[in-house]
Amino acid sequence: MDGRRVSGGTAGCRGPWPMTSNPVRILVFAEQRDGALMRSAHELFARAVQWPLRCGIDVAAVTMGRGAERAAREATAAGARQVWWLEEAGTISLPLRRLRAMTAVAREVGAGVVLFSDTDLGRDLAPRLAARLGAAFLSNVQDVRSKGEQVLLARPLFGGRFVEELELSGSCPLVLTWGGTGAALPVEPAAAGGEIRALGLAEDPFDLRVRVMTSEAAEGRDLAQAEVVVCGGRGIGGADGFRLVCDLADALGGAPAASRAAVDAGYAPPGLQIGQSGKAVHPRLYVALGVSGSLQHRAGMRNSRCVIAVNSDPHAPIMQWADYGIVGDWRIVGEALLAAARRAGG
Ligand SMILES: Cc1cc2nc3c(=O)[nH]c(=O)nc-3n(C[C@H](O)[C@H](O)[C@H](O)COP(=O)(O)OP(=O)(O)OC[C@H]3O[C@@H](n4cnc5c(N)ncnc54)[C@H](O)[C@@H]3O)c2cc1C
Repeated sequence: MDGRRVSGGTAGCRGPWPMTSNPVRILVFAEQRDGALMRSAHELFARAVQWPLRCGIDVAAVTMGRGAERAAREATAAGARQVWWLEEAGTISLPLRRLRAMTAVAREVGAGVVLFSDTDLGRDLAPRLAARLGAAFLSNVQDVRSKGEQVLLARPLFGGRFVEELELSGSCPLVLTWGGTGAALPVEPAAAGGEIRALGLAEDPFDLRVRVMTSEAAEGRDLAQAEVVVCGGRGIGGADGFRLVCDLADALGGAPAASRAAVDAGYAPPGLQIGQSGKAVHPRLYVALGVSGSLQHRAGMRNSRCVIAVNSDPHAPIMQWADYGIVGDWRIVGEALLAAARRAGG
């Protein structure tokens, strides 16, 4: 994590901090799709099993949605000793029902730490759960480590220009969203024999559910999982330019994305926006076409492993920190990259 460290406040909790002699139970909200855990859920498990507590940890998890039972089995292999699953065949529970489910499990296991991915769903549920549990809440945590008896957490501030480091004290539980880096963490093989259970949840008049009538594939691949992201900025000049962005993403086996300026101008749909007020990605390769590289944009892609920027302005901010900067017209360079990618792809 780069940026300057801001010496710490405390997370204001009265949790099992500093480390106690009791094992801490970590509850993971494991997002899944059609029975397969998302990459971000795997990162949560890797973090959970390596949580820096000498007194030991015990990992439990919850999976929800269509395919939840299958995903629960995968969660046991990822390190959870107990997994509750809530199947929602043909319907999607709106947040209140999911919140009730998480609250029930967190109370049953006596969770000291609850981990969510820093996704739209995680950001929606986590603070509400913290309020229900009377827990401390931290968003977008990207690092956790121990220092003596202390547990230190770090998260970026101001779009990543600074890093805030927090020391936990007190005894109340902690709920956090994990911003993560997308880096694969070494995971010790899980102890065999994790237990899975269906989550029985009584109906509640406030549990609204929606029935899925049709579902349509989102444009392009899933950004959160993408290993390659091709992003168009305002410099691509229009929706027509965005078609080339999509073609290049496709040829590279990746997902198309856009800056906020490109989305606001109507070049690309809002769901593809990367940045502080959009999605966070951590691909192996990020290709930025006609993007200036604002602080707010960088906040969403700073964990990309390799960045290639194409910009006609050699002094654009992105040229200061991209791994490779190509000065030129984005369309000429983009078409050359597309031709090369197609040749390489067969
Ligand atoms: C609270 C807040 C939240 C925000 N959240 C986000 C966010 O989530 N995501 C986000 O992206 N922004 C966000 N912004 C906006 C951000 O500040 C920038 O305005 C935005 O990122 C700029 O997008 P851009 O780089 O596409 O456009 P510009 O800054 O206009 O850059 C366009 C670039 O294209 C280059 N260019 C022009 N023509 C060509 C050409 N023919 N070939 C090659 N290059 C060319 C130019 O040299 C320029 O560098 C936020 C702002 C605020 C205040």
